[in-house]
Amino acid sequence: MIRYVSTRGGGEPLSFEDVLLAGLAPDGGLYVPEAFPELDLNALKGRTYGEIALAVMYPFVEGCISRDDFAAMIKQAYSGFRHDKIVPLRALKDNHYILEQFYGPTIAFKDVALQLLGRFFDYVLKKRGAHITIVGATSGDTGSAAIEGCRHSDQLDLFILHPKGRVSDVQRRQMTTVAAENVYNIAIDGTFDDCQNLVKAMFADQDFRRSLNLSAVNSINWARIMAQTVYYVSAALELGAPDTQVTFVVPTGNFGNVLAGYYARRMGLPIKLVVASNENDILTRFFESGEMKAAGVIATNSPSMDIEISSNFERYLYDMLGRDADTLVAIMRRFKDEGSFDVAPDRFAAAKRDFTAQRASQTEVLDVIETVFAETGYVIDPHTAVGVKAALVLKSAGPIVTLATAHPAKFPDAVEQAIGQRPELPEHLSDLFDKEERITELPNNLKTVQDFVRAHSKIIEEGKK
Ligand SMILES: *Cc1c(COP(=O)(O)O)cnc(C)c1O
Repeated sequence: MIRYVSTRGGGEPLSFEDVLLAGLAPDGGLYVPEAFPELDLNALKGRTYGEIALAVMYPFVEGCISRDDFAAMIKQAYSGFRHDKIVPLRALKDNHYILEQFYGPTIAFKDVALQLLGRFFDYVLKKRGAHITIVGATSGDTGSAAIEGCRHSDQLDLFILHPKGRVSDVQRRQMTTVAAENVYNIAIDGTFDDCQNLVKAMFADQDFRRSLNLSAVNSINWARIMAQTVYYVSAALELGAPDTQVTFVVPTGNFGNVLAGYYARRMGLPIKLVVASNENDILTRFFESGEMKAAGVIATNSPSMDIEISSNFERYLYDMLGRDADTLVAIMRRFKDEGSFDVAPDRFAAAKRDFTAQRASQTEVLDVIETVFAETGYVIDPHTAVGVKAALVLKSAGPIVTLATAHPAKFPDAVEQAIGQRPELPEHLSDLFDKEERITELPNNLKTVQDFVRAHSKIIEEGKK
């Protein structure tokens, strides 16, 4: 049975169930597996996505979920995907492929993990006879994917905060038109950072956290990273791994998606990884200089990657430092106090072997969308374009795979600006603009938001009875 430890060294090792429900460790660290299993790649060749998912993930949940139950959860989670290969490869040009990650309900890659996460929560909470309250902040894509993943569970209530007027119409409607009794959309009069700070403050309020059994769905939750390792394995196998070395280019914000690729490699998958940033390029600058330095965040045409501090980087940093939690704590403290840190030259040299990094400006994003369309007739979204830009400057004899993290119809304005056409929403979302919205507007005030959550959580209701 694999157990999990905090990157900051606190507490005893925990089970999968415990880290699933905890999200963030009490010492402020992120949970990572104590050890990684070795994949039997040859045994996985030619298998379906579901079979590969079961084989890759089962060691991480063993002891908490039976194999049959886990297989059933995987089947259910991906039954709603609109492609029978779940996360299919598509040949673009020469040795360049696109990994299409947008066949889930909210047409972005976060569905791959969140469709499973909702089922994990439901399973574990039913087993324990427990109920949780999930609070999360979203700048657009996480909110709807979390809602779609959790809407069917009786064991939880979900409160999603988004900045009023600062998410796209498609993104907002994907959250607010879901008619589920356990889902609450809160539009905060403020920015995404205000929403994030409200969520952090709710977690920091120990009485509130305990009485409501607060839990998290953002990508600090280990189960999300675990679910994302699978498509690296399935895609690499299809392109000839382990005999062929595949390079993956990953549009990156919070470092969650690309970290999953790194963990797949730790399990023995022979792949190379390229971090692709937009103009918010703190990660790319790190892989160029060895220094992590915050520089503020600007709004770009790939908004889901407009992130200043990539929280999942801490998990990689932990490995980079030889799993030395004390040094990691010191570095994170320096980052918090001074806004920057650097790592020793030998550590940095190792990091450069793990990842290379590229960036794309907003103009380059539009140019790439246009070029790809002109040359192949294929329409990509602006996040995918950040990746394709990086792929185009790579020199690799082997296959290159760019992760397509969203469907172009999710970001129609940028696509229209690039190619003069508005991409159409897939069939299942075609009535999105006809449905009724359910939304509560609240001021950027902690007490008001906490009162709202308390008033609507089932836990409190049951307590009163
Ligand atoms: C969330 C998101 C990303 C960034 O993923 P990270 O795991 O945060 O690096 C990229 N593209 C899209 C469309 C997203 O929704």
